[in-house]
Amino acid sequence: MSISKKIVLTFPQSLVGQPIVYHLIKDFDLVFNILRASITPKEEGLLVIEISGKEENYKKGMDFLKKQGVNVQPLKKDVKWIEKKCIQCGACITICPTQALNIDRKTMKISFDEEKCIACELCIKPCPARAFEVRLY
Ligand code: SF4
Ligand code: SF4
Repeated sequence: MSISKKIVLTFPQSLVGQPIVYHLIKDFDLVFNILRASITPKEEGLLVIEISGKEENYKKGMDFLKKQGVNVQPLKKDVKWIEKKCIQCGACITICPTQALNIDRKTMKISFDEEKCIACELCIKPCPARAFEVRLY
């Protein structure tokens, strides 16, 4: 049976730059699109990918990644930024691991890049204005 899933991969610093995901294609016959990619402030690698292939190959591929030390999690939610609620305090900026939340140093305006967000929810607690919403699907 063929499947298609969105997953979040977190690579420890020691694995960043190594062609590990290449093995998903070469050894497990899986196909993927990279939806988001970034390096966190702790220098871990983050990849959000949409992956498809045979279910048994998917399981083997995920086992392979885990054995290499890669954290694998399904992506089943979105975090939305409600701009009109934001009071521009900046508390979320240093917490966001992917720089999805940013500040323009000239205007000091906060912005949110949905493409970079991996829905980790780290920004939700420190936000005094409750300017984030989690959408599950
Ligand atoms: S959930 Fe918040 S902290 Fe996490 S990546 Fe998205 S914007 Fe950044
Ligand atoms: S923590 Fe909340 S209120 Fe403060 S800048 Fe971020 S989104 Fe806006």
